Amino acid sequence: MKYAYQTAVEGGGFLYLPSVIISFIILTLLMSFVYFYMFARSQERYVRYWGFCWIAYSLSLLFLILSLNMDIIVLLELRKIFDLLNILFLLYGAYAFMHAQIPTYWNRFSLYVTMWLLLGIYYSFDHLSIYLPVSMYQIIITSMLSYIVYKYWSVPTFEKILSIAVFLLWGFGKAALSIFEVYNQDLSSLYLIEIIFSNLLNFSIFVIYLQKTRDEISIADRLYRIIAENATDVIFYYALNPKPAFTYVSPSVETLTGYPPEDFYQNPRFYLEISDSEHFNAIKAIFSGSQLTDMDSTFLLHHKNGSSFWGEFNVSVLYEDETPVAVEGILRDVTRMKNAENQLRSAKQSRDLLLSYISHELKTPITSILGYINALNDGTISAPQEKNAAMEIISTKALLLEHLINDLFQLSKLESNQFSFNFMHLSALDLSQQLIDNHLLDIKSANIKPIIALDSTVLKEKYVIADPKRIDQVFSNIVFNAIKYTESNDKIKIKFGTDQGMKNYEVTISDSGIGIPQEDLPYIFDRFFKAHTPVRPGKELGTGLGLTISKEIITAHGGMMSARSNLGKGSTFAFTIPIYYD
Ligand code: ADP
Repeated sequence: MKYAYQTAVEGGGFLYLPSVIISFIILTLLMSFVYFYMFARSQERYVRYWGFCWIAYSLSLLFLILSLNMDIIVLLELRKIFDLLNILFLLYGAYAFMHAQIPTYWNRFSLYVTMWLLLGIYYSFDHLSIYLPVSMYQIIITSMLSYIVYKYWSVPTFEKILSIAVFLLWGFGKAALSIFEVYNQDLSSLYLIEIIFSNLLNFSIFVIYLQKTRDEISIADRLYRIIAENATDVIFYYALNPKPAFTYVSPSVETLTGYPPEDFYQNPRFYLEISDSEHFNAIKAIFSGSQLTDMDSTFLLHHKNGSSFWGEFNVSVLYEDETPVAVEGILRDVTRMKNAENQLRSAKQSRDLLLSYISHELKTPITSILGYINALNDGTISAPQEKNAAMEIISTKALLLEHLINDLFQLSKLESNQFSFNFMHLSALDLSQQLIDNHLLDIKSANIKPIIALDSTVLKEKYVIADPKRIDQVFSNIVFNAIKYTESNDKIKIKFGTDQGMKNYEVTISDSGIGIPQEDLPYIFDRFFKAHTPVRPGKELGTGLGLTISKEIITAHGGMMSARSNLGKGSTFAFTIPIYYD
């Protein structure tokens, strides 16, 4: 039997057909290369399948034109294999487009149809029995494709309808063509229609791809904007070409620096406004794209309101042909981190200092104790009176050590907020009375005259939240210091009342003792600080921790502690505790 196309060619009516086919082969091949190029850029699997799909189709066209020219029927039949591949890859692409794996039965189905086709060609089956399964295959797969597009592709409705229509027309058309190829005498116009449809399909797939990419870009762009606009860090893009300019500065710049993004857009060197003159060059280097990676990129920057903050630049330089074209990056407020770092450093320093103090304070009495013990042992001290005196000193030093250890323990608990207070609601009047009762005798027995001023009208019905035992400890420390540094027959004046605004309960203890040198006063509450003042005979030098502990206790009560002194005339210590009003 003679094939329809042969009749057409022989008839000479459609001589232009080969040139049309060749143009379409070139066009289809070009399209496949575009797909492969897009695959190389996007790494999307479906784009690669579409590339294969149109390669298969151009091969199918090549076989068509060869069979037309060479009059070899088997080429026309082999063409069907590429048609099958063409449609199979389209299905692969559709599944990959919705990020799904193609079910294996489609592969098996395609394999069986191909085998049938090859068998048919080899054993020269009747043409209809060869082409009918192929047509069925085309109809089934294009229906499936349309169903996938309808059900799963998230593309705009117009494109969806268009794609389904093109898929169906193309599939059914191709199937019909296969049948026509067997019977019809004049097929040239049908070939043309098929080719045009195939390219229409190709084009509509391409449109879908572009649409999807545009959607993805706009989603990515939107997401990026959301992140940038809401980040506390400042995100910026600084173009260096053709002229340096801020292309983007996130709105958070206003919170961080006080200046709106517009200021940065208008002036390409506006970043200098927030920099310190000392760091001008380093910051300029960042914005010129020449910053070295190992350079420190944290600077003290200035807010519009005059305050300062630590800003860290994380930038990357974009290059084109090895020339920097832009700087993109993040400016982050690292003030808290920097402060914590400094605190950590100073905490470490003060811990080292504390350890050296402690070892020094412990070493002095221990050396003294050991010295006396040795002298007692080797007989250097042998007279009973001397022995007693030595024992007395050893015991005093041992007591001092115990005192020191207790104080250190208490202080470390107070400083680490691990000290537990027994706060209670107390009448200021009762508390004052209790403090007097507990210490009056101590003052008197030191031959010092106590002068007590208790303003009961002011203190009446005033309450404080306090731990009475700890307040007694503070009071006792100040009173014993006063006794220690005051001559006999002098006086100690104690005043209980409130501060001027009546917001705080205030206790003031003034002695008429030797006083504290002005230069020592600022350090009086520091750990281990001992002023250069002689102690009353018979009184041991303390640990230098008493006032530090007292201040910690008062601070924990929400109050304040202060000291005034007049060298040679006396000292005044005062502490306050907030008055509790319901
Ligand atoms: P200490 O256990 O050595 O008394 P404190 O912390 O209580 O430790 O006092 C620290 C230093 O303050 C004392 O060593 C002393 O030099 C000075 N000081 C405290 N109170 C008085 C005071 N009333 N008069 C003179 N100096 C005082």
